[in-house]
Amino acid sequence: MLYKRSSALFKNAKNVIPGGVNSPVRAFKAVGGTPIFAKSAKGAYVYDEDDNRYIDYINSWGPMLLGHAYEPVVKAVIEKAKNGTSFGMPTEIETKIAELAVSMVPNVDKIRFVNSGTEACMSAVRLARGFAGKEKIIKFAGCYHGHSDSFLIQAGSGAVTFGSPNSPGVTQGTAKDTLLARYNDIDSVKALIEANKDEIACIIVEPVAGNMGCIPPKDNFLQKLRTLCDAHNILLVFDEVMTGFRLAKGGVQELYGVDADIICFGKVIGGGLPVGAFAARNEIMNHLAPLGRVYQAGTLSGNPLAMAAGLAMLTAIKNDKDLIQRLADKTEYLHKGFARALDTYNITHTINREGSMISIHFSEEEVVDFETAAKGDNPTFKSFFHGMLNEGIYIAPSAYESWFITDALTYTDLDETIRAVEKVAQTL
Ligand SMILES: *Cc1c(COP(=O)(O)O)cnc(C)c1O
Repeated sequence: MLYKRSSALFKNAKNVIPGGVNSPVRAFKAVGGTPIFAKSAKGAYVYDEDDNRYIDYINSWGPMLLGHAYEPVVKAVIEKAKNGTSFGMPTEIETKIAELAVSMVPNVDKIRFVNSGTEACMSAVRLARGFAGKEKIIKFAGCYHGHSDSFLIQAGSGAVTFGSPNSPGVTQGTAKDTLLARYNDIDSVKALIEANKDEIACIIVEPVAGNMGCIPPKDNFLQKLRTLCDAHNILLVFDEVMTGFRLAKGGVQELYGVDADIICFGKVIGGGLPVGAFAARNEIMNHLAPLGRVYQAGTLSGNPLAMAAGLAMLTAIKNDKDLIQRLADKTEYLHKGFARALDTYNITHTINREGSMISIHFSEEEVVDFETAAKGDNPTFKSFFHGMLNEGIYIAPSAYESWFITDALTYTDLDETIRAVEKVAQTL
């Protein structure tokens, strides 16, 4: 494949945009090489500026659950735009999508719309703190909740239980309120609660992790978190920015039968436009301004174009009885094909899968948390990534990302993908 135009565009972009990108992972730093500039996309395929075609497994990092340029979404946005693109006044469509979302998600009465997953998680934690009247939070190493200060925290050293900043610009003062636990390790959570009695407002978790590859919860991890939260008066926040409206119509709460107190959304809920949201029961949501004293606002929040896209998306998901099963079947088909191909050429690997999320880790050990995810062989991933790209398969340019399966994929596409894995495996 030729990447002539992409390379030229990247060069120009770097002059005026830091690193040439508006979100770091797009820059291919983890895998080397030059990022592909997208020109257009339709269904399961994305086309780059050099007119190469790829079967797309990033799908804008999740939102395009039904494929690119999904007709009802495109139509809804175009029609809405004709009537004005933003008003700073309430609009009817905000209530419509709120009613629909609340009807689909278990255990919530009200929802507030924002502009990104980052905003949703940041606001959810503020609401949790405001509601609980406590300041500390627990998050899990390897879980991503957007780029707000409280979440850019890594495990502290040695005996200290609080975290330390993992980006310059995040203060020690902020870091001391974020405690780091290990995913799928309930004892690590218990220890933090014990050491910080009556100080913890909430535990925030990706209920199925997707930002260290795909890592499902094991041994009733979510149920155990729920029990701990109940016992210690801590709010449980499910960050379903990746999993919401994807793994089940009601998200992981429905899939695993565990209730969270606040749920964060993003990605799919906006149908490809910038949308985030957080939702909870009345007793919690009513603490939010203007009803309550916890402040949160946004000039473009509930933007009519974004709401139109989201409404069309959620409506399509709600009305399609077999969607979730179809997606899971396609993902399972890929899983089997990948395992067969990699086994044939003796490539050490572990495949994790949940619903329409799947990831290949080039390591032997079961991948259950950040530490085991980090044991993957990075040089192998790099070669795999570039090999797949060359075969016209676009996967995330980082070993720590899940693949996102869309409904637009046909079994012919899946077979083509498996054949590509077979071919690339021979070169690893
Ligand atoms: C993508 C993601 C976010 C951040 O959402 P943005 O829209 O990129 O700000 C937060 N949490 C999870 C689980 C995500 O996957």
